Amino acid sequence: SPWRATVLTLFPEMFPGPLGVSLAGRALASGVWELEARDIRASATDRHRSVDDTPAGGGPGMVLRADVLAAAIDAAEIGQDSSKERPRLLMSPRGRPLTQARVVELTQGPGPLIVCGRFEGIDQRVIDGRGLEEVSIGDYVLSGGEIAALALIDACVRLLPGVMGKEASGTEESFSDGLLEYPQYTRPQLFEGVPIPEILTSGDHAKVAAWRRAESEALTAARRPDLSAQIPVKAPNRAGRQK
Ligand code: SAM
Repeated sequence: SPWRATVLTLFPEMFPGPLGVSLAGRALASGVWELEARDIRASATDRHRSVDDTPAGGGPGMVLRADVLAAAIDAAEIGQDSSKERPRLLMSPRGRPLTQARVVELTQGPGPLIVCGRFEGIDQRVIDGRGLEEVSIGDYVLSGGEIAALALIDACVRLLPGVMGKEASGTEESFSDGLLEYPQYTRPQLFEGVPIPEILTSGDHAKVAAWRRAESEALTAARRPDLSAQIPVKAPNRAGRQK
């Protein structure tokens, strides 16, 4: 069965949203992947269909109730093949920052179940009790998990076989080798007096590759020293240096 994202949200109408257009949208329409947006409110049990309540201990805002959310998660997993357990993610600014490596991993499984928080967040007991993996898309606070979930799903879907035009584009871009991508150019050859770097039009593939690698390394060192520290030293260099 195709890769599938199941999203638990109070706003199912936000899906597929931007994932319904362009490459992801076409792939969704043709069944390369599936999207299931489930309304958390459908699992509310009281007369008012309430999903939140005031935080224990006081403070501003509201908290998503553990009982309602747990019921929503359990309902989403009814009939799920237990041999194909899906990752259970919670979009959360407290989570481990999402990386391309984690995205790749997620595309290799059946696809995740994703919980979108709202308000001040969700009751800790459902995070612990249902083993939710908290995932952040950056050090800033969104008003809900939906836009974060859309970002995560988009990053996954473009890597699925048959979604991107050219298979290779997924393996050469930023982060795939621990580096930021080199600068790109296309026609016109001269733009506002600035030519395309000569080496790129030389036809010498080895020189082009070396230029791109050097540009990538310089850019990564300048902008993301945190990534630079993780770049694996290429085997031949290391051997050479140890001698
Ligand atoms: N009170 C929470 C805190 O300080 O950590 C923030 C709650 S935020 C207003 C509401 C919801 O948006 C969160 O439960 C989460 O699902 C989502 N969210 C906000 N920022 C996010 C981020 N950077 N990454 C992933 N999800 C985020």
